[in-house]
Amino acid sequence: MTPAAPISAGHGPDRPPVATPAELLRRLRARTGADPVTHVERVPARAGEQAPWPGWAPEELRAAFARRGVVAPWRHQAEAAELAYAGRHVVIATGTASGKSLAYQLPALATLLADPRATVLYLAPTKALAADQLRAVAGLELAGVRPACYDGDTPRAERDWIRQHARFVLTNPDMLHHSILPGHRHWSGFLRRLTYVIVDECHTYRGVFGSHVAHVLRRLRRQCARVGRTPGQALAGSRSTPGQALAGSRSTPVFVLASATSGDPATTAGRLTGVPVAAVTEDFSPRGGVTFALWEPPLLPADSPADSPAEAAADLTQVRRSALRETADLLADTVAAGVRTLAFVRSRKGAEVVAANARRALDEAVPGLGERVAAYRAGYLREERRELERALLHGDLLGLASTNALELGVDLVGLDAVLICGWPGTRASLWQQAGRAGRSGGEALAVLVARDDPLDTYLVHHPEALFGRPVEATVLDPANPYVLAPQLACAAAESPLTPADLELFGEGAKEAVDSLVETGALRQRPTGWYWRHRERPRVDLRGEDGAPVCVVEAATGRLLGTVDGGSSHFLLHPGAVYLHQGISYVVDSLDLADGCALVHPEEPDWSTHARDVTSLSVVSVRSYVDAGPVGLFLGEVDVTSQVVSYQRRRIASGEVIDTRPLDLPARELRTVAVWFTLSPASLTAADVAPADVPGALHAAEHAAIGLLPLMATCDRWDIGGLSTALHPDTEAPTVFVYDGHPGGAGFAERAYRTAGQWLRATRDAIAECGCEAGCPSCVQSPKCGNGNSPLTKPGAVGVLDVVLANLPTEHPPRQTGPADAPDAEPPKTPERDRVAASGAQE
Ligand SMILES: [Zn+2]
Ligand SMILES: [Zn+2]
Repeated sequence: MTPAAPISAGHGPDRPPVATPAELLRRLRARTGADPVTHVERVPARAGEQAPWPGWAPEELRAAFARRGVVAPWRHQAEAAELAYAGRHVVIATGTASGKSLAYQLPALATLLADPRATVLYLAPTKALAADQLRAVAGLELAGVRPACYDGDTPRAERDWIRQHARFVLTNPDMLHHSILPGHRHWSGFLRRLTYVIVDECHTYRGVFGSHVAHVLRRLRRQCARVGRTPGQALAGSRSTPGQALAGSRSTPVFVLASATSGDPATTAGRLTGVPVAAVTEDFSPRGGVTFALWEPPLLPADSPADSPAEAAADLTQVRRSALRETADLLADTVAAGVRTLAFVRSRKGAEVVAANARRALDEAVPGLGERVAAYRAGYLREERRELERALLHGDLLGLASTNALELGVDLVGLDAVLICGWPGTRASLWQQAGRAGRSGGEALAVLVARDDPLDTYLVHHPEALFGRPVEATVLDPANPYVLAPQLACAAAESPLTPADLELFGEGAKEAVDSLVETGALRQRPTGWYWRHRERPRVDLRGEDGAPVCVVEAATGRLLGTVDGGSSHFLLHPGAVYLHQGISYVVDSLDLADGCALVHPEEPDWSTHARDVTSLSVVSVRSYVDAGPVGLFLGEVDVTSQVVSYQRRRIASGEVIDTRPLDLPARELRTVAVWFTLSPASLTAADVAPADVPGALHAAEHAAIGLLPLMATCDRWDIGGLSTALHPDTEAPTVFVYDGHPGGAGFAERAYRTAGQWLRATRDAIAECGCEAGCPSCVQSPKCGNGNSPLTKPGAVGVLDVVLANLPTEHPPRQTGPADAPDAEPPKTPERDRVAASGAQE
């Protein structure tokens, strides 16, 4: 290995080097007694590997890219472009700044240049991203491409021109759903000539929103096929045009998807589009070397001994040093060493706490040094941001604490160190943030500081989950009946559904159509199913879960945004601290009848955490594994829950200030759950005493929910759980984990399919945690409706050991539930000993 290049000081080009990343890290970890570093990974510099331009890329296009500084594509860009140009649906899933856009621009623009009638549709999850892409494509100044954004802001007068003449239309799924597809007659010329559909940032189409988008894309494919079939419509241009072999018939556009790094992108992209998709995942772009340390703040001694374990758990007395304090100290130390450092903190308030603490520590050491640290947030004016960027790049400023607002279109790279306060949610975000460090040829340091949370703790002790394979797969479930039925209604309103369409919309489509006929939404005729109403169905892709609640600033009447109905009780209860684009508001009132919450701007130094109580009943079993004393199930459940109180906690320390009651109605949710049962005898054999069973199950449930984001791109707020020593439907000790969205979102299903891995990681996270009786890093949950009581940490390991010892190690045999085998009664549990009934939910 070549010796690491030294980190340079930020004071100017002539300042001598301060330290190599390794030396700097040695200084940081020497600061405390116990070594907080759990792992150091040296991410080597990568030289990058280019490929020649494809032979079909016209000179004009190569020259346009060359003007932008691209002399040749990286190999992954060329591979994806070749597949797309050959007519294969393809997803490119590589790291940030690896140049994914070239991979789709190349085949799309080459086709537009070669065939003057061809068209391209580009979809981005946000208007802002589509606008960025428009600037990029327009900036190439290619004659005849005529790119244009078509979104809610497009003036009426321009819309006609775009439909008639634009050849590269940039829009978002909502616009496709609300405007383009319902108005497909106006778009038939465009759709008939559609060669490529580009789906950018496709990893954002996850959960219920992703399931809706999947059907919007099927509706698009259907309309393309319909206009392609229209008799007498000759295909434009010559079939021998390069790139047109792919579209053979113009009615079948090729999908090119771009994704952040994710698990199994081919499968996810296939689910999203409904067509088989090839994946390009190896990144051949260059990058600088990074020394990456995983950092776990030490456990704090309890302030005062608690009287009972339950009280200790309820008061959350056993905690680690907060990640915010730890990050502030690290920032002070790197700045004192003259190293230009950027700290990423999840909330704006947190970023300000980190900056203020670092400033204070520096001023104590050297008066005046604190001035070289600042906080950075989304609310700043453009000029203020530019000034901060300039100061940091020139070294006038040495430390900056920022929210991830900095991820959004700010050009600040080439720093010497990056501190990441808390797992940012995905590996893609982690690399995006770490990617701010490292100049060309320089070496940089990155530190991930774990928060007091099971997933953060697991990750700093399992570096292979970070540095080895991609961590998370994007999950969506197009078969969700709560998505499928409204989407089929939209499709029918666009043009009558035929039996062939049912195949296009996939599993569950026939049942959904039957239910729409039953409710009178559709009428069945010999030629198909017809939408019966004058108005189109009202379906919102993003507000799936009850009517969305509007968030309104009371003093001005200004609409800040909307929150889906399902989350509104948690996020908008009276007294809740609500964050909107990094600005803090406090909720004055929530009117559920009007769907409106009134708020005022206020930035208290606490956060709020709603708690609910839940009961659950099993409706049906879809699939199960009968593993002796253990049963693993996937099925529908009815969940009744009520938000009953909320906690206020200090932001800086996490300390609980108080718990306040709330008066909100109970709500019903039919959704999908995964659950496992154990026989009481197997628990006794594993040394889990009957009195400890409720706490053991409850602790296992908390940790399992905390670790599920390792398997699927959800966060623990998308999922709910319930554990009980005796459930009336299973007649056994049971742990349920369910999707928090009507009809399910695919998370519980993913948990079922990966149960062995998921529960193994859960078991290891608990067993390896250094605490004695359970802490927020392992079995405590920030959203527990039972105040984290009872919890039995060793019992949870026992429970999971029993499950893992009995579950088949390979993928579980997928026994199908009653739908396919009407006579088969799924086992409840092999033994039906009575144990004390006691329920607990997250
Ligand atoms: Zn712990
Ligand atoms: Zn709980």
